[in-house]
Amino acid sequence: MRTVITLSDLHSARLSFAGMVGLVPTMGYLHEGHLSLVHRAREECDHVVVSIFVNPTQFGPKEDLSKYPRDLDRDLSLLEPLGTDLIWMPTAEIMYPQGYQTWVEVEAITSPLEGAMRPGHFRGVTTVVAKLFNGVQPHKAYFGQKDAQQAAVIRQMTRDLNFPIEIVVCPIVREPDGLAMSSRNVYLDTEQRKAATVLYRSLSAAKKAYESGERDAEKLRQIMKDVLASEPLAQMQYVSCADYDMLEELETVTGKTLLSMAVFMGKTRLIDNFVLG
Ligand code: AMP
Repeated sequence: MRTVITLSDLHSARLSFAGMVGLVPTMGYLHEGHLSLVHRAREECDHVVVSIFVNPTQFGPKEDLSKYPRDLDRDLSLLEPLGTDLIWMPTAEIMYPQGYQTWVEVEAITSPLEGAMRPGHFRGVTTVVAKLFNGVQPHKAYFGQKDAQQAAVIRQMTRDLNFPIEIVVCPIVREPDGLAMSSRNVYLDTEQRKAATVLYRSLSAAKKAYESGERDAEKLRQIMKDVLASEPLAQMQYVSCADYDMLEELETVTGKTLLSMAVFMGKTRLIDNFVLG
């Protein structure tokens, strides 16, 4: 396993690869969710590249950039046994040198949900992912369904900008009690960690109603809200029942549908989702 920082070291490592190259973009502080993407890339590709970069441009001014959890030694020791070929850990100065002025913006699909709550977030995400794609030039890139809107936005960008890259979206990896794994879960204290299962319980209740025949999207949103409201430590930011492709709020559930939510547990913002249909 090789570790590179600079673009020129990345390029020479990339030139030595023959066959299919898979990229797993991450912000580090890895958990089983990230590792599931690496496993999948390992199965499908000849070479696996993992990028670790806490991208400053996707954090809002009031978000947790400076205290985002980091543990590089641990990350490297988790990646080595999985057969990772290359780790690219660029610095912020390499990605955004002085005088930097080019941005990638995807329009409609970035407006609702996370885009509405985190202005500028997706502009940072699409810009950095385009730069990761240009640097690594992978054949396939692996993303998690955990960040459902991000996966949809990256798919759209890849199509729109003609990146010759297949986007592979992998299922959400959860803790045994249902909490979706996230680097941010370390911020939760014991009480908040217990209460954080409310996201999974809320999504499960709506799914159960859907499976019993409920197709009124507002009723499904209300079921999710009611379960969230039953947990005093949880502060709902949004719940959504939207069509899977355009992420527009539905009145009636007909085709493939995304149930999603963002919830504050104290200062920690958690997101989760289920796909219906
Ligand atoms: P992050 O380091 O949070 O930017 O995440 C890097 C990648 O891992 C993204 O594509 C995420 O969607 C994915 N990911 C994060 N958590 C999970 C999870 N619990 N299950 C599956 N994929 C995940």
